[in-house]
Amino acid sequence: MDLISYAELAVLLVNSPDRLTGLEGLRALLQESGRSRQASRLTRADLDALRALREELVAVFEAAADGNEREVVARLNALLRRHPVHPQITEHDGEPWHLHLTEGGRFADQYVVGAVMGLATIVTDLGADRLGLCQSPPCRRAYLDTSSNRSRRYCSERCASRANVAAYRARKKVGQDSGGR
Ligand SMILES: [Zn+2]
Ligand SMILES: [Zn+2]
Repeated sequence: MDLISYAELAVLLVNSPDRLTGLEGLRALLQESGRSRQASRLTRADLDALRALREELVAVFEAAADGNEREVVARLNALLRRHPVHPQITEHDGEPWHLHLTEGGRFADQYVVGAVMGLATIVTDLGADRLGLCQSPPCRRAYLDTSSNRSRRYCSERCASRANVAAYRARKKVGQDSGGR
């Protein structure tokens, strides 16, 4: 069971506020991320639960981006208490026996447990500073830094190159303002 990949569920939710305005948007988001089976049984209650979870996860990523490790841990622990894990060994679709973190229950319950356990694993295995918010304004999308030297600062290549261009222009401007060429 790769819990770090579960953390991508948290990132997906944080970065998709525009898809949480209605059931259709959420359904499309799940289909695009390869979860068609789950998309087919979504309810209004799932949508409400995932919207609430998104708010909580944004706060977790903001605390991490501020370097506030204790707040990250306190927020994740509160989520873990509210969403207990019910692991079950299962097999389906020709896969060998494997663990599911939460069997049964609503789709949203399974999503919450996956996302929160994923983040908890990253924080304990790699460190809270692995959760970040893009530093190319005004982006602020969430990302997971799984690089070996903790060097990631942007959500995407696009934001990284935009930030590089902005930094280059700023340097050039400083050069001109001080009369240097
Ligand atoms: Zn499975
Ligand atoms: Zn970005």
